[in-house]
Amino acid sequence: MTAFARQPIALERGRGATITDVDGREYIDCVAGVAVNNIGHCHPSLVSALRTQAEKLIHTSNLYYTEIQAVLAERMARLTGMERLYMTNSGAESNEAAMKLARKVTGKKGFISTKNAFHGRTMGALSLTWKEALRRPFEPLIADVTFVDYGKVELIADAIDDDVAAVIVEPIQGESGVIVPPDEYLPTVRELCTERDILMIVDEVQTGFGRTGRWFGCEHAAITPDIMTLAKAMGGGFPVGAMMSQEEYKFAPGDHGGTQSGSPLACAAALATLEVIENEGLVEQSRVNGEYLKQSLANLETSKAVDSRGKGLMVGYELSCSVLPIVSYARENGVLLNNTSENVLRFVPPLVIKKEQIATAIAVVERAIDLCSR
Ligand SMILES: *Cc1c(COP(=O)(O)O)cnc(C)c1O
Repeated sequence: MTAFARQPIALERGRGATITDVDGREYIDCVAGVAVNNIGHCHPSLVSALRTQAEKLIHTSNLYYTEIQAVLAERMARLTGMERLYMTNSGAESNEAAMKLARKVTGKKGFISTKNAFHGRTMGALSLTWKEALRRPFEPLIADVTFVDYGKVELIADAIDDDVAAVIVEPIQGESGVIVPPDEYLPTVRELCTERDILMIVDEVQTGFGRTGRWFGCEHAAITPDIMTLAKAMGGGFPVGAMMSQEEYKFAPGDHGGTQSGSPLACAAALATLEVIENEGLVEQSRVNGEYLKQSLANLETSKAVDSRGKGLMVGYELSCSVLPIVSYARENGVLLNNTSENVLRFVPPLVIKKEQIATAIAVVERAIDLCSR
């Protein structure tokens, strides 16, 4: 199925932030499988945890308990400050679960989302996603969603009526080009939700697990949401996600489910990933190297630069022209880059990327910048 627009290379193996194609060409990876390989490619601890668990038990369903799921749940609760965990296989699935939980516990139907938001591509999650081109062919979607400008709490306040169950926000908008809201945004949204008695869902699918220089994006704002959704980097590349909530918000048996949710293998991947992030100080490394990356981009001398922004190793470099030729040039010169919109390069490399690798990647971008075209 031609669902994906692919670049003309085939990848074969990887280590750290280096990836090798089938012809033996090496690349510095500044994409990390779209903010997934936070601990780098094929980290030995992850590989070994997967191997060990695969020899014991791979899948059980949720008709029974497994110890490893309980251990992971406890660990996640401590890390996030959330009390409950429902496991999924992807970010869209985590947001689906969040929507169902919000409707179930509030008895209300509506959602407030933000312009330029991305929350996934299944019918529910797509209803919360802004981009017209992604939505249009699949309408009708869930009708009760209001979109307001990102970063403006007063517009959320205006959109709340008696039938709104929840507001959903990303701590930093990823897919639309690394949009960082004002510092007071999340804290004031938090206050508003409490005051007006609606749930606050924070979508940490992209910002989670050290990506922004904190364990989770909402820590920058020192807030705890009612519901938090996670996926991407959670399993270090193994598909696993989670929807977490405060104690009082929970499903009853039968409300929701997923046959392969929270398999022992997925739990092993997630536990190993959390341990690597912690043991190798990757959250701090993301903060420090992210600052270096953002500054280095800001220092490039070009009249085409519009902005260099982000937190930790989630950095957007906006130019006044199409960056597509830069992505191609970089790939041909050993650097994998990703663009979000046509004029924003999004850097979300593995958090283990070395400073020298960042410097090399930036040198390649610098050489390519004049290719940036209308
Ligand atoms: C990637 C992403 C999703 C969707 O996750 P999938 O695993 O692709 O379903 C949802 N929300 C945000 C913020 C994302 O970046």
